[in-house]
Amino acid sequence: MILVKTKKEIDFIRESAKIVAETLQLVKKNVKPGVSTLELDKIAEDYIRSNDAVPAFKGYSQGGAPAFPGSICSSIDDEVVHGIPGEKQLFEGQIISVDIGVLKNKYYGDAAITIAVGELSDEKRKLMEVTEKSLYLGIEQATAGNRIGDISNVIQQYVESNGFSIVKALCGHGVGRFLHEDPQISNFGRKGTGPEIKNGMTFAIEPMVNLGRHQVQVAPDEWTVITADGKPSAHFEHTIAVIDGKPEILSIC
Ligand code: MG
Repeated sequence: MILVKTKKEIDFIRESAKIVAETLQLVKKNVKPGVSTLELDKIAEDYIRSNDAVPAFKGYSQGGAPAFPGSICSSIDDEVVHGIPGEKQLFEGQIISVDIGVLKNKYYGDAAITIAVGELSDEKRKLMEVTEKSLYLGIEQATAGNRIGDISNVIQQYVESNGFSIVKALCGHGVGRFLHEDPQISNFGRKGTGPEIKNGMTFAIEPMVNLGRHQVQVAPDEWTVITADGKPSAHFEHTIAVIDGKPEILSIC
């Protein structure tokens, strides 16, 4: 069941999502060769808690996996999503996807960006640009009266027309009262299919795009999703609300 939110509830989600966006920008400022993902995790957690909020991913568990130990998901190069922060340091030329969830006033915000570590190869740069653009094209389709499949379809068309692959094993989702709500928002699919989009719905739209083939697998740590072919992957995500028929991005600062 898709939960439709009141204006007041959307205001709470906006507050949480804004903290997510601010934290992502703070992490981005600190991304450079030599920094570890654990250091980035600490910076993020400190900032979130200083806003009287809670990092929503910390301690989160799904599908029998151990509780997630980090406040951020930090996924480097061939890691798609759900990378666990650790001692490993970043290197020039890598891309790191950072995904953050925040809980405040019982409402959730969720967003992700992929960040360049120094200078990138042309193909990684293009992968990042196409992934981010596909997110905004998807958001444009989140209008009242459209269908969830309209979001999915435009993301898939744009990504595949640029020669990249959509990760099919993972998807976006409703968000707000819970970290993950209905509906599932696939990043591939057909126009005019799926639930109708209505005012008051709140979504986390999040294309995950692979430079090579679409297949992914889970690493032995039971969390990190990696590309099967070892090629890099990018990820961008926003929390949005449908207000007055149109999408409003909530995870901005
Ligand atoms: Mg999400």
